[in-house]
Amino acid sequence: MIVADRKPLSEIQDMIKGRDNILIIGCKGCVTVCNVGGLKEVRILASSLRIAAKKEGYSLKVDEKVLERQCDPEYIEQVKSTIHDYDAVISMACGVGPQFLSEAYPDQKFFPAVNTTFFGGAVSHGIWEERCAGCGTCVIHYFDGMCPVARCSKSLLNGPCGGSNKGKCEISKDVNCIWDMIVKKKIEQDRLNDLLNFMPAKDWRTARDGGPRTSRREELIQ
Ligand code: SF4
Ligand code: SF4
Repeated sequence: MIVADRKPLSEIQDMIKGRDNILIIGCKGCVTVCNVGGLKEVRILASSLRIAAKKEGYSLKVDEKVLERQCDPEYIEQVKSTIHDYDAVISMACGVGPQFLSEAYPDQKFFPAVNTTFFGGAVSHGIWEERCAGCGTCVIHYFDGMCPVARCSKSLLNGPCGGSNKGKCEISKDVNCIWDMIVKKKIEQDRLNDLLNFMPAKDWRTARDGGPRTSRREELIQ
């Protein structure tokens, strides 16, 4: 899923400064799963903004709405009749949400309430880790299901750099060296020779380096 973090309240307050009638739109997709932009978080942000406004002595009306997804025009359509009732709209979806909203309603103003960070999952309650960088050509079958593109700080494909130390990456003792994990698993399974197969330079054109990407599924296009 896409993982995100809520922006600090002060940053969101700055964005909507001077506006007194706001709609907050959450999303029931990834941001609900990572506890950042679902119904509960929409309510918390709405209450926090109202309380902060009251404390600072100005009036702020904040309405709340949660869409099934903000990355799908079918659901974006559901706010068509009310979207212009507000001075501005705060989106609590990943970065896709406010962009889809802006494209659908170009004369409304949309603000992002979250910082979208990575594709990953929960490794324990309240902790999410990155697993995929969306490179467009998956190669994890060469590495026993571990991704050095996303999880090696240098995206190395032919073994660790010289900085790997006791299982940790040289950038921080809090970051595991994925290459240490790959090598250990190959040794455990007596398949270290797999790593003698040289990985040629990766074609990064399928990743972000090739510019904005489009995925076409001809069988779905009418
Ligand atoms: S190889 Fe690419 S697509 Fe596969 S997990 Fe890593 S970044 Fe994601
Ligand atoms: S220490 Fe490991 S994870 Fe960090 S950059 Fe080097 S090989 Fe990659």
